[in-house]
Amino acid sequence: MAFNLESSNVATRENRIGSITGYIGSLSDLANQSKCGTLKGCSRCFSQSSSCLSTCALNQLSAIRDVAIIHHGPAGCSVAGANAYYLDKVMARKRGVTTSTVYVGTDMNENDTIFGSAESLRKIILEVNRRYSPKAIFVSSSCATGIIGEDIDSIVDDVKTEIDVPIVAVHCEGFKSRIWATGFDISDHAVLSSIVKPPKQKRNTINFKNFYESARPEIIEMFKNFDLEPIFLYCNSTVEELSRLSESLATTCICGTLGNYLGNGLEEKYGVPYIRTINPLGIAGFEAWLREIGRVTGREAAVEKYIEEQRAVYLPQIEEIKKELKGLRAVLGMGPGYTFEVSRVLNELGIEVVWALAWHYDKKYENGDVPPSMQYLLENDVDFEASVADQQNYEVMNILNQYQPDLYLSRHPGSTVWAIKNGTPAVYVADEYMIFGYKHTLEFAQSVLDSIHNRSFEKNLARRVKLPYTDWWYQQNVDKFLEEAKTNGKVVG
Ligand code: SF4
Repeated sequence: MAFNLESSNVATRENRIGSITGYIGSLSDLANQSKCGTLKGCSRCFSQSSSCLSTCALNQLSAIRDVAIIHHGPAGCSVAGANAYYLDKVMARKRGVTTSTVYVGTDMNENDTIFGSAESLRKIILEVNRRYSPKAIFVSSSCATGIIGEDIDSIVDDVKTEIDVPIVAVHCEGFKSRIWATGFDISDHAVLSSIVKPPKQKRNTINFKNFYESARPEIIEMFKNFDLEPIFLYCNSTVEELSRLSESLATTCICGTLGNYLGNGLEEKYGVPYIRTINPLGIAGFEAWLREIGRVTGREAAVEKYIEEQRAVYLPQIEEIKKELKGLRAVLGMGPGYTFEVSRVLNELGIEVVWALAWHYDKKYENGDVPPSMQYLLENDVDFEASVADQQNYEVMNILNQYQPDLYLSRHPGSTVWAIKNGTPAVYVADEYMIFGYKHTLEFAQSVLDSIHNRSFEKNLARRVKLPYTDWWYQQNVDKFLEEAKTNGKVVG
C-alpha cells in the first residue's frame, strides 16, 4: 500500500485492507476466502455494543510524554480523556518518569455545531501551546466536527506559523469505522506524518510497538544478548525518541493489529524492515520472531545461542504442565491480533479450541499478505469454528451455553465478566506480555491450570447472579444461531 503522509487523513480498515466485523464459519473457510479475495463482511440487524475508534487513537497519542491532545468535539466525546489521563500518569509513575501531557476537550455546544467553531479552536490551540508548552500537539476531530465539515486541517495549517513544535490534525470521527482498531492506524499516521524525521545515522535500536511495556526490563535484558536496544512505543515515549524511529534496524510489535500500520509505514518510507512473523507468544511464536530479528539484523548466531539456553531451562517444565492441560476445551474472544495467536498457543499446549471469536478480522495487512497467525494455523492443519463479532456478548453467551467449554479466554474485561457470571472459568489475558516467550508461556499455562482447578469463584458467582440470558432465551436462539453458522456463514441479529 502506498502511504500518503502528505494527507492528514487515513482510510478506514474496511476501505483500506478489507477488514470485516461480521462472519461465522470455520478458520479454514475464513482464511481461504481471505486468500482468494471473496471474503465479505456480513452485516447485523442488531448491535449490542461497540467502541469509538477515537479512544484507541487518542489513548495511544496521549501516552506519549509531554504532548497536548486537543479533542475538538462535544464534552461527551472527550470524556475518554479522563481514563487516558489517569492511565498515562500511572504508567509514567510505574516506569519512574514524569509526563506533562494534557488532554483538552473543546466542549462544542449547539451553537458551535450550527455555525462552526473554527475561531474558538484556533484560540484554544494557541492558548494550550502558551500555557503548557507541549512538545507536540494533536488536534482531533469527532463525529460532530465531521458532520458539519469543520476544516481542522486549515486551522492547523494556519497556526503552524505561530507554533514551533509539531502540530497535526487527527481525523478520528467515530462514525467512520466500525473497527476501533482503525484508531491505532490513525495514531500511527499522525506520528509518521508529523514527528518521524528522515534518518541521520543508523543505530542499534529496534522499534517495539506495544501497549503498556510491562515486560520492559526483561526485554531490555534479552536484547542486550544481541547488542540491540528496544524503543518501546508509545507508552512513555518522548517526541525526540519518536523523531528518530527511522534510524532503527527494524520494527516489531507485540500484536499485528496494533503495529501493522507503523511497521509497514516505516519500511515503505524509510526502509526500516518490519518483522513479519507470528507474534512472540508461545514457543513457536517466540522462536520464529527471534530468528527473524536475528536474520534481519545479522545476529543469527547470538539468537540461536539464546534459544538453546532458554529451551534447556523452560521446555522440560512446559512439557510437564502440558500433561495436565491435555484435553481441555476452550472458547476465545479477543481482537484478531490475539485470537489467532492465542489459539495457536493453546494448540501448542494441548488445549482444544472449540470456537474462536475475533472482534474484527483483517483479511490482509498493509503489504497485501494474509496475517501470519492465520497462515501458520492453516499450514499446520489447525481448524476450528470461528466467528467475527465486534464484542457482541450475546453471541459469546450463546456459544458458551452450547459448547460448555472448560475455559473462556478474553482480553477484555467487559467480555470476561459475562463468562464468569455464567459459571465458566475464565482467564483474562489483560497484559500483552502474559504469554510472551518461554517464561510467560509457562506462567500462562500455570494460570490456566489454576482456573481449572479452582472453580469455586465462578460457581458461587453464577449461583448468585441473575443473568438477562434465561434458559428460555437460549432455547429461542441457540439452534437458529448455530444452524446458520454451519450452513451459510451469515450472522443473525
Ligand atoms: S467521536 Fe462520535 S462515536 Fe466517538 S465518542 Fe464522539 S460522538 Fe461518540
